[in-house]
Amino acid sequence: MSRSAHPAGPRHADVLPEGHYSAPAADLNALDEKVWSRTVTRDADGALTVGGIAVARLAEEFGTPAYFLDESDFRARCRAWADAFGPDADVFYAGKAFLSRAIVRWLKEEGLNLDVCSGGELTTALDAGMPAERIAFHGNNKTVAEIERAVEAGVGRIVLDSFQEIVRVAHIAQRHGVRQRVQIRVTVGVEAHTHEFIATAHEDQKFGIALADGQAAEAVRRALALDGLELIGVHSHIGSQIFDMAGFEVSARRVVQLLAEIRDEHGVELPEIDLGGGLGIAYTSDDDPREPHEIAKALSDIVTRECESAKLRTPRISVEPGRAIVGPTAFTLYEVGTIKPLEGLRTYVSVDGGMSDNIRTALYDAEYSVALVSRTSDAEPTLVRVVGKHCESGDIVVKDAFLPADLAPGDLIAVPATGAYCRSMASNYNHALRPPVVAVRDGEARVIVRRETEEDLLRLDVG
Ligand SMILES: *Cc1c(COP(=O)(O)O)cnc(C)c1O
Repeated sequence: MSRSAHPAGPRHADVLPEGHYSAPAADLNALDEKVWSRTVTRDADGALTVGGIAVARLAEEFGTPAYFLDESDFRARCRAWADAFGPDADVFYAGKAFLSRAIVRWLKEEGLNLDVCSGGELTTALDAGMPAERIAFHGNNKTVAEIERAVEAGVGRIVLDSFQEIVRVAHIAQRHGVRQRVQIRVTVGVEAHTHEFIATAHEDQKFGIALADGQAAEAVRRALALDGLELIGVHSHIGSQIFDMAGFEVSARRVVQLLAEIRDEHGVELPEIDLGGGLGIAYTSDDDPREPHEIAKALSDIVTRECESAKLRTPRISVEPGRAIVGPTAFTLYEVGTIKPLEGLRTYVSVDGGMSDNIRTALYDAEYSVALVSRTSDAEPTLVRVVGKHCESGDIVVKDAFLPADLAPGDLIAVPATGAYCRSMASNYNHALRPPVVAVRDGEARVIVRRETEEDLLRLDVG
């Protein structure tokens, strides 16, 4: 479609409305390797390829919308985290970011451990053969049935989240004649998001037991007194999409102080601390995430230093990256439908998915990038808002971005960095059929989670 057939929105910075965007990239066809998975490139015809396969072929074979996951990138990121932390630390992949049986097998093969936070995630992990001792079980309201299954399966640790749960898990473990390995999740009074952290007053939340007022110390006292529990350490998770290590620094210091207090009171040095996940990734070119080896070094330096000053043996550290492993490895492929230019504002580009496959923009005001991927274009950059097909004006996938002015219905566009918290948070709103996840590797593509069908919808509706 030519520009005159559908007039483009505003193009020049001086007439652009307010928004979250930076200036358009000099070349809209260029792919910023920060936001795309590692095997993504453009072929000689200008089409985006992943694992050596062009998006047109993927769209034809698997349909749109669909998530394409770069398996070799996923595996490489697992190895990078495992190598960075080395044999004296443990990396737990946070399954809530995205979990499937294939993912579990890859984690197992690459030597990672796995965090789960529901019976469904536990079932998936066990079904795909993750050894129970490599599984950690989280959650602020684990049901008795879930705890029973975790204990019976022999999970490596349960992270206790409340005073009631300390007693509950101890009873269940005793009934099964085992001592369950547990950690206590503490709220250290730090909350970190993206480039900021706030170091007071974040005890006001549902997770964990506050360090303040001696609550956490009391939880430790109770856990140590119960035969069904083997307290192996303390856990802290401070937020998500974090770039600044300062929040981890405060958190590590407070956790180590607690270990010192426990030593002084009980004469025991707990062998482990878990510093949680939350490490940021690049959703747009403005984001600058750290490499796993930098993160590993920063965390281990902090813990070592704090332990030296408290005269404690350095505990074994564990971390729980979810987003940082799977987030960058996938993109969502959409077909462009209706294009609506609003004079003096922006152009609304509708795609065949939306908030049902990516709720993060609506939920967290998340920022994403987008590119025309079925071809290249030399047309001028136009400010667009990529929206879905749902009955909701907040149904926005990418709030503000630039796409070429000759974008037309039928073009394929892709949103990178959708590997985490997109399929796992997907819904059936408007009876949308949740998209498939297709793993691509070395010229081969295979479905690891299939597309929902109308039969699936009707099967749940028992009338
Ligand atoms: C969500 C969560 C994680 C993972 O967070 P990411 O931002 O995906 O790294 C790790 N640990 C706990 C306890 C969590 O709740």
